[in-house]
Amino acid sequence: EIIEDIDARRQSEERLRLLLRASELLARSLDYDQTLGEVARLVVPAVADWCFFDLVDDESAYRRVAAANADPSNAGLAARFRRGYGPLPEARHGISHVARSGRPELVVEVDDELLLSLARDEEQLAGMRALGLASFLSVPLIARGRTIGVLTLATAESGRRLSAADLPFAEDLGRRAAAAIDNARLTIESQRHVDRLNALLEVSRQVAEAELDPRQTLRVVAEQASRRIGDGCTIRLLDEEGTALETWASFHVDPAVRLRLQQATSRPLSPVGGLHGPVVQGGHALLTPVLQREHFAAVDNDYQAYAEFAGLHSLLIVPLRGRERVIGTLALTRERTRAPYDVEDQMLAQELADRAALAVDNARLYQAAQAAVTVREEFLSIAAHELKTPLTTVKGYAQMLRRQLDRGEPQSQVLEHSADSLLRQLARLENLVTDLLDVSRIQQGQLAFRPERCDLSEIAAQVLAHFEQAPELGADHQLTLDAPAAVAGTWDPARLDQVLTNLISNALKYSPNGGEVLVRVRPRGTGAEVSVRDQGLGIAPEQQPRLFQPFARLPAAILRDGEGVSGSGLGLYICRQIVERHGGTIVVESAPGVGSTFTVRLPR
Ligand code: ADP
Repeated sequence: EIIEDIDARRQSEERLRLLLRASELLARSLDYDQTLGEVARLVVPAVADWCFFDLVDDESAYRRVAAANADPSNAGLAARFRRGYGPLPEARHGISHVARSGRPELVVEVDDELLLSLARDEEQLAGMRALGLASFLSVPLIARGRTIGVLTLATAESGRRLSAADLPFAEDLGRRAAAAIDNARLTIESQRHVDRLNALLEVSRQVAEAELDPRQTLRVVAEQASRRIGDGCTIRLLDEEGTALETWASFHVDPAVRLRLQQATSRPLSPVGGLHGPVVQGGHALLTPVLQREHFAAVDNDYQAYAEFAGLHSLLIVPLRGRERVIGTLALTRERTRAPYDVEDQMLAQELADRAALAVDNARLYQAAQAAVTVREEFLSIAAHELKTPLTTVKGYAQMLRRQLDRGEPQSQVLEHSADSLLRQLARLENLVTDLLDVSRIQQGQLAFRPERCDLSEIAAQVLAHFEQAPELGADHQLTLDAPAAVAGTWDPARLDQVLTNLISNALKYSPNGGEVLVRVRPRGTGAEVSVRDQGLGIAPEQQPRLFQPFARLPAAILRDGEGVSGSGLGLYICRQIVERHGGTIVVESAPGVGSTFTVRLPR
């Protein structure tokens, strides 16, 4: 009895030493796969013939990270047990059962019936029989209330049996291992977070330094993405029409590969199909941890050659998400020597892409705003000039009147002429100011727009009626309406009146020799169409694109000014804005000396 007592005390002292040694090993490194192996080797053969750690990596699989046994001739067998495998949800014994229940299991005497219930296939059964499994003890590894794995001690060839007396040791070892694994995982995770934050801070800083220069911004992001996530990075943006993905920046960590990557990605890609298409169209990332041959089917030859040269292995493409839509892609590739991309990489890549997209969007908005300011300034300077001309004339006539009156005996003829001229110039000024006000409202998006059910033929008839008394309508002019039926739609009738008035007024103004002005109204497809055709001066093809710009007055029109026909050069610009506000289009067809036809198409 005394000897037993001494044995027991010696054993418990030895186990305490083992536990202390195990803690030391576990504290040494964050690479717990490695340290668990060392711990397993510590326990065998002192406590058991076998020792396994099975870790629950995710819900659906265990990973056996350490297996050790006393007899090296069993190494082949050990390797067979080391493979990953899924849990057996219905198991009533063994690792799956312990992981699920969170309670230890001791089997002092393993019989064949139990082996049958443990094995998931013939091969495993044969393995366990060959092993001569005699007894086993499994304890759950529990960290912060969650079972993260199972520690199993087993005996076989030694003939020993594990007993309830071994349970406290196994549980103690399990607790220490679980705490170490959990600690390592948390440390690794928080290190990754720190790395990620650093990457984002660095990118934000460099993007701020790039100061709204989109190319510089994208270069910075490509370099950071390739340095932090690896290995090669290419950023592409959709062109203005959205028909091609153009490369804006590419970078590779290895300077020897960098140039090859730049060459291989210099050509634009299609935003539909291929590897990038779904990312652009769907706005979701494409994560391909391991590239297969079929992934290269849609890729051009240059890139295929590059893939071979660099040894591409893993691919990650994330969308550049702009304010309203996907504006491009950020693609990363890793080479064979490195681990495949995972979801963490995808998250970081997406964060970088979001920063890039925001910077590009801001730069574009800024450029657009800048351009709008320039347009406004130009507009103002022309408008001031346009206002100045009639004002000078008005001033001239007013001075003439003054002089006449100063003479004491004014000539009534001169007075009459001056007064008429004054009124004419004032009317011109008034028109110009009215047009300018319209343009100003349009530019601020404040042009009143009140759509209602109306009939285009009726509007045209009303406009024509007004022209019967108009000064533009000369004796040689013939104004005709061809509108055989009602063409109803939802439009702003006052605005369409404005458009037609302008077009007809132009047709009359710019056909000094008279002729027919024909206004035609027709349904067209699902929409409506109204055209105004004249037989006047016509417009040379090279001048036609300018017509709808503000202050686009052609030489012929300026010439007519002298003949008492005036214009602001804003009419067609306003017409186009109104038509486009309706979702329609306005086009001109014209030849010098033959005449012009302006056609407005409107959805109904
Ligand atoms: P304006 O007030 O000068 O008529 P618009 O914007 O209406 O300004 O037209 C711009 C210019 O387009 C005119 O100055 C004229 O040179 C040309 N134009 C417009 N309509 C016609 C037409 N029917 N025939 C020939 N030239 C035209």
